[in-house]
Amino acid sequence: MSVDIQHIRSQFPILNREVNGKPLVYFDNGATSQKPQVVLDVLDNYYEKYNANVHRGIHTLSQEATDLMEESRRKIQAFINAKHDHEVIFTRGTTESINLVANTISQLLTADDEIIITEIEHHSNIVPWQLVSQRTGAKLKYIPLTADGILDITKLDDLLSDKTKLICVNQVSNALGVINPIETIIEKAHAKGAWVLIDGAQSVPHTKIDVQALDCDFLAFSGHKMYGPTGIGILYGKEDILNQLPPFHGGGEMIKDVTMEVSTYACLPFKFEAGTPDVAGIIGLGAAVDFINEIGIDAIHTYEDELVEYTIQRLSEFDEVEIYAKDAKHSGAVSFNLKLDGVHSSDVGMILDKKGIAVRTGHHCAQPIMHHFGIPGTVRASFGIYNTKEEIDIFIDGLKTAIRMLG
Ligand SMILES: *Cc1c(COP(=O)(O)O)cnc(C)c1O
Repeated sequence: MSVDIQHIRSQFPILNREVNGKPLVYFDNGATSQKPQVVLDVLDNYYEKYNANVHRGIHTLSQEATDLMEESRRKIQAFINAKHDHEVIFTRGTTESINLVANTISQLLTADDEIIITEIEHHSNIVPWQLVSQRTGAKLKYIPLTADGILDITKLDDLLSDKTKLICVNQVSNALGVINPIETIIEKAHAKGAWVLIDGAQSVPHTKIDVQALDCDFLAFSGHKMYGPTGIGILYGKEDILNQLPPFHGGGEMIKDVTMEVSTYACLPFKFEAGTPDVAGIIGLGAAVDFINEIGIDAIHTYEDELVEYTIQRLSEFDEVEIYAKDAKHSGAVSFNLKLDGVHSSDVGMILDKKGIAVRTGHHCAQPIMHHFGIPGTVRASFGIYNTKEEIDIFIDGLKTAIRMLG
């Protein structure tokens, strides 16, 4: 299975633009991916032909919009192999998906309970749990990193107990690009009766996820990192668990009956979807899933692995470059610094930007990892299906300039 990269690139209008007089080399896919023409067209088409509020209308436009939205839900269900379409909840993104679980689960927790997170999480999988801990008294523990910057999974057995109610971990670290051993974590958690929430923001766009095979209890991810629009995300949850949670937001759409005293709630997924959803975003995300399926997620995975491997190989040519968690298995991203006195990651990012190369610098919303290494930040190159080895060569040339200028 090979992918026709030039054909794929031709579907992304933004890749035609120049930055500082140079062709754009976009290596910031970990922050957000670019959008193919099919997704852009679907957004226009929706507002031009179908725009109406969903679920409440008897009229044709409302029914067509509702059908498109629910078709999108089924596309996402199939994409992650959820058992039921009502296990797919639309949110604004990974952050809101995690907050949905944190807020609702907090109503089931007491000061005797414990939650385990890890030192390699994005802030949006740390801060909500700190809030839960403050609100409920539940104890928050974390799996630490080894000196190399990978999860020290040997510590998990000591952290786990009958008090553990939930473990929250990302499948792939946005800051370092390393793959975490979530299968082991899920197995050990379930043996103690704890639930597991997987932050899939950096894995779902790059690798096949089968929530039934994985047996995770929740999976959170964002549309905008997988070629879809901003403002739309997914929370997958197992039906019986979602049914145990109280509602999140109160409002329209999520109720069955309302009196002035009390309300009863709608069934899944609507119980968690109060208010008018981002209908265009949902339909756009469905188009993004179609786009991915057309190439094939396994082909994307294989191709992106080649890009990551090539990047690590080329970066290893420099004595001045330190790659973080270098020997760990990476997916989609590589994080590094120049070992030059007084040089900050943003200095490198600025020089690369002058050459049209977009990388992310700084703490990547994962400050505990930076504290672990005793650094303020890293330079991160993160990839999408439209990137090429030629672009990596341009990036390496840019890095040579940076080393010359900053050294
Ligand atoms: C981007 C990201 C998030 C937050 O996603 P939003 O789309 O900003 O809500 C959470 N976790 C990881 C691992 C991420 O990469």
